[in-house]
Amino acid sequence: DPITTDMRTLTAEIEKFAKDKKIEIDTLKIREEYRKDFLGNVSHELKTPLFTVQGYLETLLDGAIEDKNVRRKYISRANKAVDRLIYIVKDLDLITKLEVGDLRLDKQDFDIIELIQNVFDLLEMKAAKNKIVLTFDILYDKPIMVHADREKIQQVLTNLLVNSIKYGNENGTTEVSVENLVKNKVIVRVTDNGDGIPKEHIPRLFERFYRVDQNRSRKEGGSGLGLAIVKHVIEAHGEKIYVESVLDVGSEFSFTLEKSKMQIQDKG
Ligand code: ADP
Repeated sequence: DPITTDMRTLTAEIEKFAKDKKIEIDTLKIREEYRKDFLGNVSHELKTPLFTVQGYLETLLDGAIEDKNVRRKYISRANKAVDRLIYIVKDLDLITKLEVGDLRLDKQDFDIIELIQNVFDLLEMKAAKNKIVLTFDILYDKPIMVHADREKIQQVLTNLLVNSIKYGNENGTTEVSVENLVKNKVIVRVTDNGDGIPKEHIPRLFERFYRVDQNRSRKEGGSGLGLAIVKHVIEAHGEKIYVESVLDVGSEFSFTLEKSKMQIQDKG
């Protein structure tokens, strides 16, 4: 019966339309939830340092300003909290750019070993304070040239190494290695013998503001955006990031990079 067939087709079409619409509505809802969640997280992150600054300023105004030693101490603490605010806002700015795809990569050829050594030098004090040693797995006596955005990869390495310092054990070691993966790729590994991460948390680790231990992370001064930034930067390069971790044994974060043409010609 042609009419019944038509009706069936129509119903199917309407159903499909409704279904499509519903999916769309759901997506919007999810997006809206995500946005609310993000804003909630942001204000939460900003509140702590802001209240710290406010607390010190109010105490100073209440009379502490008269005492030369106290004055210095409180101003310097307020200043530290402002540093932290700036750090969080910078991370937020970067993650926003990364998420809306508004980040231009400025790729160039550079020596990844030299860059890692630079980051080691910059983090030397921080590592020493936490009694963590930063080392290479072997002696790299020749450059390993890669093709990537040097500044962004510096940020990736910094975030991974800072984490290994923050979540490492006293007298721990963080080892970095660079290996050939396939003909045109290297893999950079950052391995620590710190806390490790419980298995159930690993799938969510790269989400912004996701933390295994809220208190520990805040105390260590993270923005909760470090790994989200790492993932975005590596994926913007078209590369891959991996994590392996065992509780109380340690963690290994690794990512791939494209070799520069001269490196491939030089020795494959
Ligand atoms: P933050 O360190 O600011 O909290 P990240 O995005 O850098 O944010 O890391 C997310 C979470 O992953 C951290 O809070 C911590 O719980 C966990 N984590 C990251 N790196 C390590 C590591 N090397 N060892 C153990 N836990 C880690």
